[in-house]
Amino acid sequence: MPDAVSRLAEVRAAIEAAEDEANRPAGSVTLVAVSKTFDADAIRPVLDAGQRVFGENRVQEAQGKWPGLRQEFAGIELHLIGPLQSNKAKEAVALFDVIETVDREKIAAELAKEMERQDKRPRLYVQVNTGLEDQKAGIDPRETVAFVARCRDVHGLAIEGLMAIPPFDENPGPHFALLEKLAREAGVEKLSMGMSGDYETAIAFGATSVRVGSAIFGTR
Ligand SMILES: *Cc1c(COP(=O)(O)O)cnc(C)c1O
Repeated sequence: MPDAVSRLAEVRAAIEAAEDEANRPAGSVTLVAVSKTFDADAIRPVLDAGQRVFGENRVQEAQGKWPGLRQEFAGIELHLIGPLQSNKAKEAVALFDVIETVDREKIAAELAKEMERQDKRPRLYVQVNTGLEDQKAGIDPRETVAFVARCRDVHGLAIEGLMAIPPFDENPGPHFALLEKLAREAGVEKLSMGMSGDYETAIAFGATSVRVGSAIFGTR
């Protein structure tokens, strides 16, 4: 059984190959290592191997392990990739460097309030529900461009990118293409798309960051 450190090296190599294949510059894609459900002892070797950007999907779980790891390792960048409840906005602003899951007016308003109060400005992405799935978070693709504009104009929030999780049982390519098109229309530069099963495809469609969990840490 290969361990997380050797799998990390394989994923990094695959990202480089996909960048090259897509005629994109080396290093243009950021690897977000998704460490949800894994504890500090499982994450530490990956930090030792030089990985610094991580994703977590629950605020409370992240609060339990990352403040300690930040005392051990400099330069950690933490992304919130799971749904955000408005009553957790305060904790999310305090802990995360990037919040990828802004998807409704109420969250935008809460984040704006907390960012002002804490004088801390995590970078923000809008999550888009490209497959219009009932059970999935994210804004309707048809409302995305207007929502990004409202974040800026009404709430004073600069949106840096878009994020999506394509439906589990569909070809992800059209969803990645839709997200790329919406980002262009909304005037945002970053595209968080692609997970363990499809990050190479996402890179071909222009992903600027990929969120890879099980291909590094193993099955959850
Ligand atoms: C868990 C998760 C991932 C990582 O999924 P893997 O298939 O394990 O790579 C990526 N993005 C989000 C939003 C997640 O919740």
